[in-house]
Amino acid sequence: MSLSQLARSIVESPTLRLNEEARLLRERGEPVIHLGIGEPKNKAPISAILASATKLVSGDVKYAPTDGLPSLKKAILRYTEDFYDRIVAPENVIVSEGAKQSLFNILFSLCNPQDEVIVLAPYWVSYPEIVKMVQAVPVIVTPEDGSFVPRFEEIERAASSSTKALILNSPNNPSGAVFPEELVAKIVGFCEKKGIWLITDDIYHKLVFDGKVAPPAWRYTEKDVESTKVLVVNGVSKLYGMTGFRIGWVCANRELVRIMTNVQAQTTSCVPTPSQAAAEGALTGLQSYVESLRLTIQNNRDVLMQEMRSFQGVTLRKPEGTFYALPDFRAYRMSSVELSNLLLRKAMVVTVPGREFGMEGHLRLSFAGSVKDITEGIARMKWAIDPESPNEIWIGERKLVRDWL
Ligand code: PMP
Repeated sequence: MSLSQLARSIVESPTLRLNEEARLLRERGEPVIHLGIGEPKNKAPISAILASATKLVSGDVKYAPTDGLPSLKKAILRYTEDFYDRIVAPENVIVSEGAKQSLFNILFSLCNPQDEVIVLAPYWVSYPEIVKMVQAVPVIVTPEDGSFVPRFEEIERAASSSTKALILNSPNNPSGAVFPEELVAKIVGFCEKKGIWLITDDIYHKLVFDGKVAPPAWRYTEKDVESTKVLVVNGVSKLYGMTGFRIGWVCANRELVRIMTNVQAQTTSCVPTPSQAAAEGALTGLQSYVESLRLTIQNNRDVLMQEMRSFQGVTLRKPEGTFYALPDFRAYRMSSVELSNLLLRKAMVVTVPGREFGMEGHLRLSFAGSVKDITEGIARMKWAIDPESPNEIWIGERKLVRDWL
């Protein structure tokens, strides 16, 4: 079939594929533990549900303004003022179907073919693919010291006269790393000086542990929203566990928002209004909800660290935020894809291969699920590959015997 070369060059989303595989296994009655999942288990805030239900019950579900319902934009402006200490106008905000569409709109609106976009490894799987979709070129920066945060000089070295943008995601998916304030400030200064757009993906910005904060890049520019190179992406997916509602947004200068609005108008027209109402409900409802989610996830992180401690040969940098950890399994001398497949087939534990995030030899483990999933998942992983662990394990009524080590 003669399909578009560009479309064919876009790889499948590994995380969505794994979700589907896990779902099919579960449907067959297999006791799958999903440590690949990128969403908290909680129910959406009641304020979100009620706002969305009210919209639906009204029966008045029609097209909305392309850039978002004015009342949701108002709630986003308030949120922006509270968290970022920035006052922006409704014309500086565009609401999209999840932060993913926000990122697509930004890159599509900024990039010409062959422009370069700096992506810092480990990176969220979709960044390089979206960059490729808009015919730009991802330039990957991998920390030379094996850590998950690059040195400023490494970023500086990756920039060329073709660099159009840099994507910064802190707290970081997949490593859970939070970029230090000094580095964030330097990156902002560098981008403003060089005229490089700094796309800051703040989708996990409040899911930070141990009393720390993730310094948002926007704080380190003195320029106003009309003249800064810092663009802010945020949304309700992770913060409120509202992944299915598909609401994200961008704060940017008016001209860019206007162009992105044209792009969105010609692709998806507008964002479904029951979802927009839900996001407004979440943003204007009780914010203690976010804190209780954060505490649950922090506790899960502590359980994961405890369980991983006795895993032979595996090293793990403590996640400071998000709900992901990226342990290093290189001692097991398998590719991350082989390892992830083995864990799924033998132990029925879903993990995501580090290769997908630009970190071969690692696996991404999500601790967004229950404590039971984390402890049992890691116990099964140890059984499958750690020769020091017992040879037999019970999964429900089923006794599994390890005969491949
Ligand atoms: N950015 C990052 C770093 C993410 O991890 C995700 C979701 N996994 C997104 C953006 C997309 O979020 P949304 O559900 O709002 O599209």
